[in-house]
Amino acid sequence: MRQRIAVVGGGPGGLTLAHVLHRHGHPVTVLERDPAPHARPPGGTLDLHAGMGQLALEKAGLMAAFQTLSRPEGQAMRILDTDGTVLRDWRPRPDDRANPEIDRGQLRDLLLGPLDVRWGRGVTQVVPGTHDGVLLHFADGRQETYDLVVGADGAWSRTRPAVSSVTPHYTGVTTVEASLDDVDTRRPDLARLVGDGSLAVYGVNRAIVAQRVSGGHVKVYAQFRVPLDWHAELDLTDDVEAMRSCLPALFDGWADPVLDLLRHSTAFAHRPLYVLPVAHTWTHVPGVTLLGDAAHLMPPLGAGANLAMLEGAELAESIVAAPGPGELDEAVRSFEEQMWARAGRWARITAAGLERLVSPDPAEALALFDHVQPS
Ligand SMILES: Cc1cc2nc3c(=O)[nH]c(=O)nc-3n(C[C@H](O)[C@H](O)[C@H](O)COP(=O)(O)OP(=O)(O)OC[C@H]3O[C@@H](n4cnc5c(N)ncnc54)[C@H](O)[C@@H]3O)c2cc1C
Repeated sequence: MRQRIAVVGGGPGGLTLAHVLHRHGHPVTVLERDPAPHARPPGGTLDLHAGMGQLALEKAGLMAAFQTLSRPEGQAMRILDTDGTVLRDWRPRPDDRANPEIDRGQLRDLLLGPLDVRWGRGVTQVVPGTHDGVLLHFADGRQETYDLVVGADGAWSRTRPAVSSVTPHYTGVTTVEASLDDVDTRRPDLARLVGDGSLAVYGVNRAIVAQRVSGGHVKVYAQFRVPLDWHAELDLTDDVEAMRSCLPALFDGWADPVLDLLRHSTAFAHRPLYVLPVAHTWTHVPGVTLLGDAAHLMPPLGAGANLAMLEGAELAESIVAAPGPGELDEAVRSFEEQMWARAGRWARITAAGLERLVSPDPAEALALFDHVQPS
């Protein structure tokens, strides 16, 4: 009999796992807390690396569709000094497909494809070891059991407590994500400033990064070292005007065109950066595992979605290759070993990266781009 498999969370990791299982004809149930596919704004853009996110898409049979949707030109990188001087201006060759960008929403739709996701199914608790398998409790009071539950439910995973007591901790860096719409028509000056890909400016314990999304949208990330309660007197949920005026004040003396990215943004989201410990592992629990941010939340420096997707694809292939329950448990164990080793390496790299990118010495950040020559 086929094992009953539940994937908790329909992010890049969970959907890749389900898509590859589905491609191999293996039944799978995806349980997603969001009430509908487009219930939330999808967010910005992801760069998918050859050998990581792109390899996962190959395993899902989605590479051709990805080639059509993705933006190789989005790999372009401009670095400015805080006074507006251009320090680096790099554009990829037309055939460079090492890390093309794709909108998160497009990636989600691509991965959703034929999947029958159960929307509005927020999991509240995962209880392994019951007589009928792993018991899931849902926010609406329902309960279901499965043979294998994969927690792909992100930073604040409700699956994680079934295998680990570890919780994320604050890095000391907060990001405010801001959005600019229709830049090409409304603000061609800002469109030129950002270019086809990313713009980054590094100051003392501060950074502003802007990234082009398709359709004339730009996401702007203001990053700064602050205590968690820095915003005690601000209403960060609704008060766009307060954010427009308070954010540029944190970047006092920076060039006006750079600050205009914040002054003209229309929506803001407050995101303190949390991480799990660099080498997060756990004692194997039969019937439950984690992948992606649920397993190894790290600073958002271009690895998290790539790892989550690759893990999803690899776990799916291991499940398909396991003929019975004993082999399935062995497959999950060896998947975990492989995931911990690789994610541990990336967690160290991204933790060190965040220290340098938002650091007291902006030269530390610039040194990370020494290989990016001015074009
Ligand atoms: C600003 C920013 C930029 C980034 N850029 C990149 C990049 O360029 N490249 C890259 O590789 N990574 C990037 N990352 C990191 C990347 O976004 C994450 O690592 C990635 O989304 C993790 O995927 P995931 O599937 O593990 O979890 P998530 O994307 O967090 O998905 C989890 C899903 O689970 C659902 N869920 C949560 N709780 C429950 C529950 N209790 N029950 C049911 N469902 C639940 C959520 O609704 C969500 O759909 C970036 C992150 C940020 C913040």
